[in-house]
Amino acid sequence: MTTMNRQLVLRQRPKGLLAPGDLELVETPVPELNEGQALARMKYLSLDPTMRVWMATDSYLPAVPIGEVMRSFGFAEIVESKSPEYKKGDKVVGLTGLQDYTVVLPGDQRRFQKVPNIPFLSDTAFLGVLGLTGLAAFFGMEIAAPKKGETLVVSAAAGATGSIAGQIGKINGCRVVGIAGTDDKCKWLTEELGFDVAVNYKQADWKEKLRAATPQGIDIDFENVGGEVMQEVLSRMNLFGRVVLCGLISSYTKVDPGMASFQLALVKRLRIQGFIVIDFASRFTEAATKLGQWKMFGKIKDRETVVEGLEKAPEAINILFTGGNTGKLILKI
Ligand code: NDP
Repeated sequence: MTTMNRQLVLRQRPKGLLAPGDLELVETPVPELNEGQALARMKYLSLDPTMRVWMATDSYLPAVPIGEVMRSFGFAEIVESKSPEYKKGDKVVGLTGLQDYTVVLPGDQRRFQKVPNIPFLSDTAFLGVLGLTGLAAFFGMEIAAPKKGETLVVSAAAGATGSIAGQIGKINGCRVVGIAGTDDKCKWLTEELGFDVAVNYKQADWKEKLRAATPQGIDIDFENVGGEVMQEVLSRMNLFGRVVLCGLISSYTKVDPGMASFQLALVKRLRIQGFIVIDFASRFTEAATKLGQWKMFGKIKDRETVVEGLEKAPEAINILFTGGNTGKLILKI
């Protein structure tokens, strides 16, 4: 019997949040394997804010062409192999796409990496704390060059990247202030992750609370959001502070002219550095080893929000923009 592959194909470029019709679920037969190929079946897919950018426009990667399977990272298991490089049961992470199966081609090691079986790590850890979000936190904090006693502010702090970045700040002896969108998230940050203060930016007095939480000003902004949140944080920056531009999620679903933030950067002589985690690909193993050790020794904790079913991907991606996730958002297949 032919095995069918369910795929989410990009049909139109979204405007705002994803709407019905932007992604379409289609079924195609899983192709017969040729010599040298292996078949991977997805177990978990990573849902990331950047996917919304990939749907809309060229950025650090070209936009996903209309009619193609939506690009995504994922965790998969080899279920059939005619390749000397993979055997049945091997686990891989890489650019899987939003689908049930993908064919791994010879020489595809840039697209897929085998992952080891490590007893204390769940499969999903390879998409979260040891995946691109954990790695972005790691390398972003390396760019920040935190010093003991400095004040670090992290936006989208209860998300996959922010929660790890803040904890790395604590490991480095910083005063860490998180900005997040619910009281529960703020409680998680201070009571479980060791942040010094967390501010709910959806409360009317959040700017006063941020001011009170940063009496010595702000030395490092780990920026995940942009817009009004970034503007407020920059206004509290100390001279010669560092702004690590990790993401600008507030502008992924709408246009934001906000250049005022960059005027603040000029006057305060801030060092702003954007980065894309894939720039550090040659150091992923080193960073994942460090993150794994921190996790094993309880120095960093992580959380996941898991949604089940490929067909739920479009509505699940939207919760990244409405704040429905805490920690890493994962789609279970
Ligand atoms: P998260 O797990 O942080 O999820 C996104 C969170 O952002 C939501 O839960 C929501 O939490 C918050 N948010 C959404 N919209 C807004 C808004 N308008 N204002 C304030 N907060 C908002 O996702 P990731 O960890 O995957 O990504 C976080 C950021 O890091 C993104 O900007 C992403 O693009 C960037 N990133 C960059 C990488 C790089 O290589 N440079 C790599 C990976 C991620 P809340 O309830 O607090 O609003």
